[in-house]
Amino acid sequence: MRRIDEIEQLKNELVSTVSHELKTPLAAIKAYTATLRQNPELYAEKREEYLRIVEEQADRLSRLIEDLLLVTRVEAGQLLRRRTTIPLDAVLDEALAEIHFDTKRYPIERETAAATVSGDPDRLRDLFRNLIENAIKYSPEGGPIAVRAREKEDTTVVEVSDSGIGISEGDLPYIFERFYRAESEVASAAGGSGLGLYITRAIVRAHGGTIEARSEAGRGATFTVCLPKRA
Ligand code: ADP
Repeated sequence: MRRIDEIEQLKNELVSTVSHELKTPLAAIKAYTATLRQNPELYAEKREEYLRIVEEQADRLSRLIEDLLLVTRVEAGQLLRRRTTIPLDAVLDEALAEIHFDTKRYPIERETAAATVSGDPDRLRDLFRNLIENAIKYSPEGGPIAVRAREKEDTTVVEVSDSGIGISEGDLPYIFERFYRAESEVASAAGGSGLGLYITRAIVRAHGGTIEARSEAGRGATFTVCLPKRA
């Protein structure tokens, strides 16, 4: 495809995805605040629940905007700003601090030993945040999320696995594509732009690494990331 056509196509895809993804949380924020304001009797009883929904929807909006900014940087080849070697645990702590979730429903099992990763710490945080967020989002029944790491010569291998709804054989080859979302009730309820795994794979590639997904519908998913210790 010609570059100009590619840009045109990207623009069209962005406009349709973004307008849907912007409208849904905005409609929820507006509805819940209006309900509280117009029904003072609900205030005492429902305030906490409604404000939590408003907060979650605002988070969803800011995540979308961050993803869009990262996509522009992917397209411009400007994903990495600095490179250092840091403990994987430090990266995971930062990633987890950015996700709001119920740690009782979703215990995070870590077997990371003293593994280190090499790269841009901000992008590595985005990478693992995306994978853990998906693991939670696509496990509506709850359940542990496991993060396991091992070091192999000059590579760090990190696996993120869940026991959620999984990915069907038909969807698996496409999940890293821009805007691709497998259809399911869980996916439509949770929302999403289909940009997360596209960005995730771009981050891994910019570090000279690889990412693979293994899954069966209904049996959870495992994402394996291999990162060279020094590219
Ligand atoms: P989003 O979550 O915004 O839809 P992603 O690019 O992060 O977009 O993921 C693309 C698709 O891959 C999702 O819509 C979902 O169908 C599938 N997917 C990703 N991670 C998982 C997972 N851990 N379990 C099941 N399906 C997943």
